[in-house]
Amino acid sequence: MRLVDRDHPEKIRRPLGPDETAAVRRFCGAGQEVRPGDVELVAAVLDEMHDGRRVRLWLECDCWQDAKSQPRLTARVRDEGPRHFMRMHRYGEHRCALASFRQDPEPEDDEPDDDTAPPGQHNPLRPVGDTLDYLDDLHEGVARPGGSGGSTGGRGDEGRRLPRLGRILHTLLDDAGFATAHVDELKERSRSWDRLEAYAANEAMSPELTLAQVLYFKPWTSLNEKMAAIDALPWPDKKARSALLLFVADEIRDGAAVKKTSMGECRVRPAKGIRAGGRDQGLTQPPYWVLAVIDRDREGYARFREAFAQHAYSFARPAPLNSRYERRTLEQLFGVMEWVKKRGVDVTLAKPLFEREVRQLDGPSLWCRPDFELTFRTVEAAGIAPRLHRVVIETMGADEPEYLERKSRTHEIMKRRGILIEHRVSDDDGQAERDDAFLRRVGAKILHLAGVQRAGTHRKIPGV
Ligand SMILES: [Zn+2]
Repeated sequence: MRLVDRDHPEKIRRPLGPDETAAVRRFCGAGQEVRPGDVELVAAVLDEMHDGRRVRLWLECDCWQDAKSQPRLTARVRDEGPRHFMRMHRYGEHRCALASFRQDPEPEDDEPDDDTAPPGQHNPLRPVGDTLDYLDDLHEGVARPGGSGGSTGGRGDEGRRLPRLGRILHTLLDDAGFATAHVDELKERSRSWDRLEAYAANEAMSPELTLAQVLYFKPWTSLNEKMAAIDALPWPDKKARSALLLFVADEIRDGAAVKKTSMGECRVRPAKGIRAGGRDQGLTQPPYWVLAVIDRDREGYARFREAFAQHAYSFARPAPLNSRYERRTLEQLFGVMEWVKKRGVDVTLAKPLFEREVRQLDGPSLWCRPDFELTFRTVEAAGIAPRLHRVVIETMGADEPEYLERKSRTHEIMKRRGILIEHRVSDDDGQAERDDAFLRRVGAKILHLAGVQRAGTHRKIPGV
């Protein structure tokens, strides 16, 4: 294996040593056994490939004997978590241990969820590591729903497992930037959709197939035409032919996700129903993100097979949410972001769709998934380097006491990520007052941490 320049892949940076090569194959080859020292070697290679901001180098394999081009790996960092390898399907399939790939050697599937694990020590919910796993595996000619790539992977919400399709939806939304918003983006409308299209065009699922050929966004597209197009594509071996439809639905009614258009209502009614993520199981608080799988039934007819729905904040800004209570919180947070912007503090909001790591010096990492996180830097002053701050927000909705109790058990872990502020949301007359108090409290905390002079904090918050 060798490291090549990302921008000029014909330039070889350096060949990997035999011990490094073996470590990468053991680390990322599914079913391989990792040896002591592998983790350090792999981490060093990843550091070389990705400087924390962008990819500098690709890792080129050598498993195609005497071939001109070889399969490649890139390095990726998500919002949170360590650098990791990704297969680049555009450059061919591996003929080495990396043909069956894993992002890291922790057990991917089969680990049962441990309900008795102490808070933060459960099997964390993670993104789907490989775009190819968005497709179902073919087993002896029959598609196996919930096949590879994570029928498990932790809880989608406290106490509820996230189905595989939900994990794919969350991965897509996370990768395409729907789960974060910088204050300057609050007024832009369609940028995130452009990002999604650009992202899909760039994700190769095989040397010949990109995600953009599989994923589409218009629910009124004819199923027969879509599956005819899918049938005509060069398709990865061992994967079932299918398409994915992603859109924001106006409502979900009688088992169908409904999109209203100038031509009338367009309905997506999957044969196996629509499952929901988060606390919003009633599906009566639109709009909703919907990810549907399109394939052929046993008779060969094109159909919507199944779908997964997730609460969205609004059509203009479809941040994925877990409940209508969170929608109320997010509304306040957008207000806070605009207010502190006027005082010179730029806040980035994140809706964590996957779990955040809290490292411990003396033990295994702990995992938590706050409802929201706000990050910002100290306002620059002479001689002081801008420091990054984080405020963690939890929505405490009018939910079952047992759920709230389970939720608050992870709050001690969240407090190690940042200052924790709770927003209580209830269906009573006092909500406007609570919202007001919450907005002021979060705003004041941000200004204080960012080092904005006290005098201005008495200025009235617009709209309050
Ligand atoms: Zn290889």
